[in-house]
Amino acid sequence: METIGIDLGGSKLYAVRLVDGEVVDSQRTVVGRSVATIDAIASGVTEIAQGDESAIGVGLAGLVRSNDGILVWGPHLSGTHLGVGPDISQRFGVPVVIDNDANAALLAEMRLGVAIGYRNVLLVTLGTGIGGAIAIEGEIYRGGGFAGEWGHVRVEDSGLLCDCGKRGCWETRASGPALARLAREVIDANPDSSLARALDGVAVTGEAVVGVADSGDETARALVTEVGRSLGQGLADLSAIFDPDLIVVGGGLGSIGESIIGPARRVLADSLHGGNLRVPPTVQVAMLGQAAGAVGAAMLAEGITNG
Ligand SMILES: [Zn+2]
Repeated sequence: METIGIDLGGSKLYAVRLVDGEVVDSQRTVVGRSVATIDAIASGVTEIAQGDESAIGVGLAGLVRSNDGILVWGPHLSGTHLGVGPDISQRFGVPVVIDNDANAALLAEMRLGVAIGYRNVLLVTLGTGIGGAIAIEGEIYRGGGFAGEWGHVRVEDSGLLCDCGKRGCWETRASGPALARLAREVIDANPDSSLARALDGVAVTGEAVVGVADSGDETARALVTEVGRSLGQGLADLSAIFDPDLIVVGGGLGSIGESIIGPARRVLADSLHGGNLRVPPTVQVAMLGQAAGAVGAAMLAEGITNG
């Protein structure tokens, strides 16, 4: 059986083709914010389709109504109440299932990735914002449909303005744009700094700042550590609620690995109530990388064709 999985986040689209549970092709496209959401998905499908697909799965970074295929809203996506499922199904003539992209990514990690064998798992994706997904006793928990949107838990009373329109959300402190903003503040205040020189002529993204940190720049390293610590504080808060066995950190910035995860692990261990008397949850980088959401979406599509 052949299915297609699409994952549309804030700035990138991943597309995979799955044949009998194996990924046979994957593609990554940068999507401009001006591109209409459904058009971006459709062009992703067109790029990767071979014409033999029996269903399409779509993961979206936002509030998704799986039962009728509606994207209610995504803070980094254009449009509200979009009929993604019905529209894509009509364009390509196959059944379409949609889900939150983090739910799809967690499903993929549980079946093929780092979360195999774990039953109580949280996925925290660190990219344009923070996404999340919850598995309880091996099943994805969606609540009324929108569970796991902890990027928008308020961590500061009058913090920075978030893409969601509110202030002080966790993702304003821990995300790619958060790290880029910290770097730009240093560059503006200190145009002759080594960080400014290292990023001269380069797009200042979170990933670029981590690259400079990993090459040994102390200022960049301090900024990356700051974001890692904000991540870790949030993971401690989530652990107080869920006490998971495993936390999987993914997303464009989270997948980079130890430079971000290391400080997060330390803050998590220091912040848990009960201190040394308990073992903190294991924190692992997502194994399937940034394509996890697309792979999980293709798995969800396999599920609908299996009835
Ligand atoms: Zn927010």
